[in-house]
Amino acid sequence: MPELGYGCACGTLRGTVADATSAGYSHVLCHCLDCRSAYTWLGHDDPGVVDILQTAQDCIRLTEGQDRLRAFRHTPRGALRWYATCCSVPLFVTPLRPRLVHVGMNADRLDDPAAIGPVRAEGFIRTRGGKVRHKGILHIATRLGARVIGRNLSGDWTDTPFFDAAGNPIREPEVLSRRERADALAALRG
Ligand SMILES: [Zn+2]
Ligand SMILES: [Zn+2]
Repeated sequence: MPELGYGCACGTLRGTVADATSAGYSHVLCHCLDCRSAYTWLGHDDPGVVDILQTAQDCIRLTEGQDRLRAFRHTPRGALRWYATCCSVPLFVTPLRPRLVHVGMNADRLDDPAAIGPVRAEGFIRTRGGKVRHKGILHIATRLGARVIGRNLSGDWTDTPFFDAAGNPIREPEVLSRRERADALAALRG
């Protein structure tokens, strides 16, 4: 994959996703309530399913509008959900610790979403019986594990636009109250 451009909806915040080798990223669809309600919390319609490019944080560069990047968490233990304050679009999800290196980027923010190729896995698909299932998880787990181990061995885990040198998020994340989270979930289409 060549270097890809991405940006928020209004174009104030922009950046690039560096390649990596073909093993450097995964294209997945996530049906989980947190990915979907990140959209409704930020004032958008429920996308139903969220298209995600999974890669490592050292592949993400922010070139313009860095000061617009903020994060929230659905719960006090939840992942960091990064968005642009200028136009309130969801951009990334990261774990709380930079050593975990993972980042999921909302692929709808890529200049050319088709460039990342076919979907390789799907998570949190709800079945008629009310259960959830996943497809292609071995693919995801293998690549994610390789990225974490590789970056921890090389030291590249410290190369991240999301955390400072002390390992803290570059912006203090807002944590949704129960009420706020319930409102975001209530706006989902079922
Ligand atoms: Zn914007
Ligand atoms: Zn999700």
